Amino acid sequence: MSKETEALSAVTPLADTHCHVLPGDYGMELHEVMRRAAEAGVTRMLVAGSDLRTSREAIEIAIEYSSFGVYAAVGVHPHEAACFAGRLPDGMSELALHPRVVAVGETGLDYYYDHSPRDVQRACFREHIRQAGKIGKPLIIHGRDSYDDLRMILGEECRGTVKGVVHCFSGTEEDAADLLRMGLYLSFGGPLTFKKNDDLRELFRTIPEDRILLETDSPWLAPHPLRGRRNEPSYVRLVYDRAAEIRGVPPERLAAAIFRNAAQLFGWGGGTGGAER
Ligand SMILES: [Zn+2]
Ligand SMILES: [Zn+2]
Repeated sequence: MSKETEALSAVTPLADTHCHVLPGDYGMELHEVMRRAAEAGVTRMLVAGSDLRTSREAIEIAIEYSSFGVYAAVGVHPHEAACFAGRLPDGMSELALHPRVVAVGETGLDYYYDHSPRDVQRACFREHIRQAGKIGKPLIIHGRDSYDDLRMILGEECRGTVKGVVHCFSGTEEDAADLLRMGLYLSFGGPLTFKKNDDLRELFRTIPEDRILLETDSPWLAPHPLRGRRNEPSYVRLVYDRAAEIRGVPPERLAAAIFRNAAQLFGWGGGTGGAER
């Protein structure tokens, strides 16, 4: 196979299932960033909020760029959980019902940074799970050094069935198996391309194709060889190409599978790469 046929063609529709393309990080360049994403074939983007303000902004961006296939998720990131004393802020429940909002999050537990006390993070996470269950939208879950508690809480709150994705998965094989058993998707981004992450690549190879999502987590975690730069959704192509290489499958096939998976989870249409809902 020549180098050209191993890379994705420019017309393959791609989904960036987790990013934070918001005015705070992109300012006046936001439109250019969206245009570059479209040029790179990214026809679905999920912009996630981290608190009340950025959740509102995510919805505004999803409305403004609806023709670019942009949707929103609203929630309180574990880093910000303490600002709201572990509760959902007033107004968040209403935001979650907005038609451009296809998921609740990002939420979860981050015991690496511990920016919010752990008991507050856990309370906030439980609130999000209940909210998502109530309105029937999937969860966007963030976990770092916290997979035991993530699994415990998901198990307690959902009794084995939960709709959602653990984004930027960084757990163990056992964590992956348990989360897959619960019905969750696992999402991977830039770290899949980082030089030292052979263990993550090894694990990624074992995840069933119908349970994987890919993402950038822009503006963070730019993939190799752009690591250290501000990330943006157009760079997701590098993640797709590397992901296909790791799994030894044609990039077009993997991209189509992920597009289907994302459509299945978020209900945003285009299961076969076609029109929006
Ligand atoms: Zn995250
Ligand atoms: Zn994120």
